Amino acid sequence: MNNTHVTILEIDANAVLHNLTYFKQKLKPETKVLVVVKAFGYGSESVEIAKIVEDKVDYFAVAYTNEGITLRESGIKKPILVLHPQIQNLELVVKYNLEPSLYNFKIFDAFLSLADKKPLMNYPVHIKFNTGLNRLGFWHTDVPTIISELKKSNNIKIQSFFSHLAASEDINEQEFTVGQINNFAYIVKQLYDHLGYEPMIHILNTSGIINYPKAQFDMVRLGIGLYGFGNNPEETKQLKNTHTLKSIISQIHIIQPGETVGYNRAFVANQPTRSATIPIGHADGISRKLGNKNGFVIINNQPAPMIGNVSMDMIMVDVTKIDCKEGDEVILFNHQQHIDYMAHKCETIPYEILTAISQRVKRLVKK
Ligand SMILES: *Cc1c(COP(=O)(O)O)cnc(C)c1O
Repeated sequence: MNNTHVTILEIDANAVLHNLTYFKQKLKPETKVLVVVKAFGYGSESVEIAKIVEDKVDYFAVAYTNEGITLRESGIKKPILVLHPQIQNLELVVKYNLEPSLYNFKIFDAFLSLADKKPLMNYPVHIKFNTGLNRLGFWHTDVPTIISELKKSNNIKIQSFFSHLAASEDINEQEFTVGQINNFAYIVKQLYDHLGYEPMIHILNTSGIINYPKAQFDMVRLGIGLYGFGNNPEETKQLKNTHTLKSIISQIHIIQPGETVGYNRAFVANQPTRSATIPIGHADGISRKLGNKNGFVIINNQPAPMIGNVSMDMIMVDVTKIDCKEGDEVILFNHQQHIDYMAHKCETIPYEILTAISQRVKRLVKK
């Protein structure tokens, strides 16, 4: 009997650990693992995820400084790489012992002058190179200037050089991706030759680990894989689902032929229809694209299509053929195939389905 009378996102700690182990088995024993917990741990719960894996990984990464502060304030001790720290937040980066990614001279110089002013000694930082994603990162032509700047300062110590792949999941882009990896290796060689020490290097995200294991270098950055998605169906099958979104039936209506359901009268009954109202809507992350039978939920093990338009706080589903009553449990999704299906219907990817689940939905970690 279900005793959670609210819409809830359940996070399965054992599934997270299973997925971590699965990826670790693909790696050389000495390769370090960084786990990406940005965006609330891909829509789950970043602090809980970090606590579940902390003693089994080497590093964490977040996108923004405030995400790193949340982890520190909850007692996370492992190093935390901040991928996009923002110049305005560099004081906070240092205050909370976070490790900034420095990706252009504007932020590099800002951090060096902060480090000089404090002064900091050997403060750990990471230097990011652009090898083709064209999003964040120094260019290979910046290498000589970086080297001469670094030689002037012992306020900072490079913890790693890294880059990010643009299409690691796409086998058709293999040539481009191998080009990125080779460019990165070439940049690193120049840096190693002139720096006098050899920081860690890393370039692989989840699908990089799957498709380009030879490029694991010193560390890999595991994101979506930890949360159950391998970016292809065969890999995903080996992984366990981590996010289960559940709710309950608030009310059941019997609709007569010619009557309609929901805003804009978008669903019109052509036969007597039982409609169930569920307390979750587009403000919770259920896309309006799933309305009008594009999406479905599971009630008593049977699929119930969403009828009419998704409202802000509610959806209605057709339960004409399902034996159910008010108060019964509703599964919005509880396996990766369902999430993949939703992503397909919304013309997006599972990353967006997971991270869209709004903070209004209560999180519950099952250990
Ligand atoms: C988000 C992110 C990752 C993780 O990518 P996944 O595809 O989720 O494994 C790794 N590196 C960087 C720089 C990122 O922004």
